[in-house]
Amino acid sequence: MTSVKAGRVNQGRILQALQDLGPLSRADLARLSGVSRATIGSIVQPLLESGLLAEGEPQRGATPGGKPARPLWFAPDSPPLAAVHLVPGWVKAALVSADGRMLATSSGRFLVTAPAATVVDCVVDQLNTVLAGSTARALGVGIAVGGIVESTSGTIVACNLMPELSGLPLGPLVSERVGLPVHLDLHPRAQAVGDRWSGPGRGEQSFASIYIGEAIGAGLFLNGAIHCGPAGAGGEIGHTTVDISGRTCRCGQRGCWETIATRDWLREEAARLHLPAAQAMTTALLADLSAAGNADAKELFEQYARNLALGVVNLQQVLAPGLFILHGDVIAGGEALRGRVERQARSYLPTRSVAEPQITFGSAHDRTTLLGAAGLVLSRSFPLVG
Ligand SMILES: [Zn+2]
Repeated sequence: MTSVKAGRVNQGRILQALQDLGPLSRADLARLSGVSRATIGSIVQPLLESGLLAEGEPQRGATPGGKPARPLWFAPDSPPLAAVHLVPGWVKAALVSADGRMLATSSGRFLVTAPAATVVDCVVDQLNTVLAGSTARALGVGIAVGGIVESTSGTIVACNLMPELSGLPLGPLVSERVGLPVHLDLHPRAQAVGDRWSGPGRGEQSFASIYIGEAIGAGLFLNGAIHCGPAGAGGEIGHTTVDISGRTCRCGQRGCWETIATRDWLREEAARLHLPAAQAMTTALLADLSAAGNADAKELFEQYARNLALGVVNLQQVLAPGLFILHGDVIAGGEALRGRVERQARSYLPTRSVAEPQITFGSAHDRTTLLGAAGLVLSRSFPLVG
């Protein structure tokens, strides 16, 4: 690692500690990271000079007569971060402060069959709307998008749900139009950054953040860092095979986890069982029908929990992240679904005295991905990975 990169990684760790614990003095940071106060001073100085951090009012320390400590925190006028969450049919943009507050949001819709140029226009329009609300120049733009992405070039390599976007260099196109650096990454990976920044992953050293809705994907935070394969590969847990002779998946393969655990699967099964409102079936409705005593709904609910647990088990067996934060449609299934998935997952795994997998749900009013897209700007500028 070059010394410049090492310095930026250390800066990333300082920012992470502040996000985890709130304002901290240099002495606190030195104690927490096990390095000298002088070293901390040299790491934070560029962050102070860049205007990202500021020193707070002097606070009297615990030692009588000691020099009052000045806690470090994000400067009130630090450069904001712009964020975009792009999914089939709509785009949301936000301007986020460096300490994670939403300063402005904007959203727009487009047809999923719209040409790529229309989608780029929609992204740029929403970004310009949120950027117009700030006099300070944003540090950069983070874009979270589904499909297969190449994060190094900012390209959407393939997008099954919006084929018009396949091959689109969205990052460079948006960067040119808004005049800011753009960091594009997989939506579940941005979601994991958001979970780590302000969600159930806060303070955790390892967890998996899984999106389950019209598609499935995972962002992995392992041993204190976001895991990212070459050019942004990895996280395609939805396309790991769970049944070699199973249904054909949108990706062209057979029996992917997506073929038995998405909203589409749930609706197809509900229709086969002639459940009420099968075409609009949600996990919330299925939970209600099951609780009301509908035998078919109860069986489908159990089967859905088992199918969800299968992907969790595969990930736990290989990487043992321990904590699984689920987002998307599944959240509406509530505690009834969460508990079932957790029980099912544990039943498939060998018993250990520690490291039983824990399932938790992300926020129902999910701004995690948008926050995470903003977090991408910070984590790319001051990386948390070695
Ligand atoms: Zn697939």
